Amino acid sequence: MLSEKAKHLTPSLTLGISTKVKELKAQGLSILDLSIGEPDFMTPDAAKQGGIFAIENNKTKYDAAMGNIDLRKAIVNKLKVENNLAYSPGDIVVSSGAKHAITNALMAVTNPGDEVLIPVPYWVSYPEMVKLTGSTPVFVETTAANGYKLTLEDLKASITPKTKAIFITNPSNPSGIVYTKEELTPLVDLLVSHNIIIIADEIYERICYLDTYTSVASLSEAAKNLTITINGTAKSLAMTGWRIGYTASNTELAVAMGSIQGHLVSHPSTISQYAALEALKNCESDIQNMVKIYRTRRDRALELLAGITELSVIRPDGAFYVFIDISKLRQKIDAESLSLAVCDRLLESYQVAFVPGIAFGNDNFIRMSYATDLGTIEEAISRLSTFVSSL
Ligand code: GLU
Repeated sequence: MLSEKAKHLTPSLTLGISTKVKELKAQGLSILDLSIGEPDFMTPDAAKQGGIFAIENNKTKYDAAMGNIDLRKAIVNKLKVENNLAYSPGDIVVSSGAKHAITNALMAVTNPGDEVLIPVPYWVSYPEMVKLTGSTPVFVETTAANGYKLTLEDLKASITPKTKAIFITNPSNPSGIVYTKEELTPLVDLLVSHNIIIIADEIYERICYLDTYTSVASLSEAAKNLTITINGTAKSLAMTGWRIGYTASNTELAVAMGSIQGHLVSHPSTISQYAALEALKNCESDIQNMVKIYRTRRDRALELLAGITELSVIRPDGAFYVFIDISKLRQKIDAESLSLAVCDRLLESYQVAFVPGIAFGNDNFIRMSYATDLGTIEEAISRLSTFVSSL
């Protein structure tokens, strides 16, 4: 019965583990959940009030396929003020979460046979999204020596006449690395010279611990014209369940993406769009408070992880994950997938949930989310340490 696409689809491991944890909790087990990347903070009050306003004032009908015009204007303003990018509302498409925004982008630009470059480690859903929308994922490996960042040489070697697009995730999920302006510029110049569309996934943009952040599209007019910026309210505004993402792109691409989603889902929930509007207008201090707390947690997690000599980490400058190198455990654990085996044992014997690195294309790692309270982080790392010592 199944299509070839459905047959070859791998279910999302991040969502799978989170569902398993919920089931175990429902059975009465106490699990420390550091798996899914979901803020433990509640949606800020102003955003909630936006949703309540929509319900109470009957803003519950269809809206424009590209998204509510007031929300698109607020996004234009955000891009101007925070990223020094000039767009008009006709360049913005509001979608049902950043995943949907990425899918719209892939559908708008790729044909069967096109190659889409995906730097490794990558976020779990990119390869499946590329396959689902009919093109071919091509992985670009990164190395510890380069801090798991894309190099110009590796990028050059991956480009073929079939290369249509690339993902640049900044800050990265799962590694938390952040590309600086100096690092981005030569990569983006090369991509521009080959006319390659850049899907710039900047959903973690605001959760960045460096002094400055550079959006890919802001590098040059040519870069802006080729870039589809992906962003949304889920991560920095603790609004995962509201499902509001968006793209910013040139108008031709935006119109195409608007038509695509118009046929598929009409537009994202009207109520959520009103909540997002308030979030963008009135929640700056909420964002800053959450980021301050994430930074404290990151620092504490890094301090504790440094005490486990068999493990090492990629130092994260953004997002809320630590990607932990478990490769030294390979001598002690005989398994087809080291990261799956380690995560299984941690969950079953130590009641701690992490995500195996294999989900992100690197089996030598596990991913820990620190979007949870400090007590949970400390206890989870202590159990991780006990597990490593037990081997
Ligand atoms: N993006 C988050 C994560 O990586 C949420 C889960 C998902 O959408 O895959 O954990």
